[in-house]
Amino acid sequence: MMMEDGLEVYDYRRQQCVHPSFMNDNCTCCGQHIVDCGVPATTPFGYIHHDLTLTPDEIKRIRDDNLQYLLDNKKLHLVLDLDHTLIHAKRIENLTSEEKESIERVDDIYTIFGGTNYSIAVKLRPGVKEFIEKVSCIFDLSIYTMGSRDYAREVHKLLVSKAGFPVCPWVIAREDCVKEKKKGLGVVLSHEKVVVIVDDTRDVWGSCKENLVRIGRYEYFPVKDADVDADADADDDAELARVYDTLQKVHSEFYFDDNIQLLEGEECSPKDVRDVIKAVKYDELEFASRQLQTSSLMFGVEDEESIALCGRKRPRDDTSIISSAFPLQKEAMSFILNLSMFN
Ligand SMILES: [Mg+2]
Ligand SMILES: [Zn+2]
Repeated sequence: MMMEDGLEVYDYRRQQCVHPSFMNDNCTCCGQHIVDCGVPATTPFGYIHHDLTLTPDEIKRIRDDNLQYLLDNKKLHLVLDLDHTLIHAKRIENLTSEEKESIERVDDIYTIFGGTNYSIAVKLRPGVKEFIEKVSCIFDLSIYTMGSRDYAREVHKLLVSKAGFPVCPWVIAREDCVKEKKKGLGVVLSHEKVVVIVDDTRDVWGSCKENLVRIGRYEYFPVKDADVDADADADDDAELARVYDTLQKVHSEFYFDDNIQLLEGEECSPKDVRDVIKAVKYDELEFASRQLQTSSLMFGVEDEESIALCGRKRPRDDTSIISSAFPLQKEAMSFILNLSMFN
């Protein structure tokens, strides 16, 4: 029995407590040790606090609150990869002398500490500031990287100061992954029905690929000799602008019915963003197929079977149907694949 200000509170608290979360294996509400609480397996949330674990019920409660907040504010949740998505980073010690020089010369290359004894050059992807500014209006943002926590936090700090990234997002790193070398939405405190992922790597997302809007891989290094002399504007990657257009379509389509509301007792929002992503990808493919039809006619390449396949069939979530639809038309293939949606 525990005494607090002369009152007996021990039994009362422990009988009522549902033990929602644990810090250092002790319940954050009643202090009881996890072994004595009889709760199901908990999930660590080291990116919030290194000793914190949550029960499934508590994760659901937080996600329900988050969902209501997102719906009230007409937002969705966006999970962003770092490397080759928002930035390209390389250890300083691995840079050529020309590349080292470019750190001084090019405006958006910065140096951060990667660990105790090395530094990293970080090149921001063209358009990252505009991208962050625009997506922040319609999404809450998280970072999810396979890099270490220290690295993720350093890059986040840089993005805050140089690209207007929100100060307090969830910064999820390698240490938070439940499965080795796999990312998963199990550690994200938003319901999967309202989460969109932007990442250059598809395979890492295991069973969450339906949430993914894939972005083309950004590579700045190695800087070729010719680029060193060239204007910095030679780096003309426009993927962030393209992906923003897709995200904006997904958001407008999700909130198209003006009165999406979570009724009391209702478990999830009436819409699932994964269905919306699929529909938007399909529309973009259809648009591309119309472009292809036009260019095929212009260039006198008429393969009716290919055009019919592309125009009428709903694509599966891989490249096979596209490959089979365009057996001979390389230009058309690269045009479609540049959408970066299906592979
Ligand atoms: Mg990446
Ligand atoms: Zn408790």
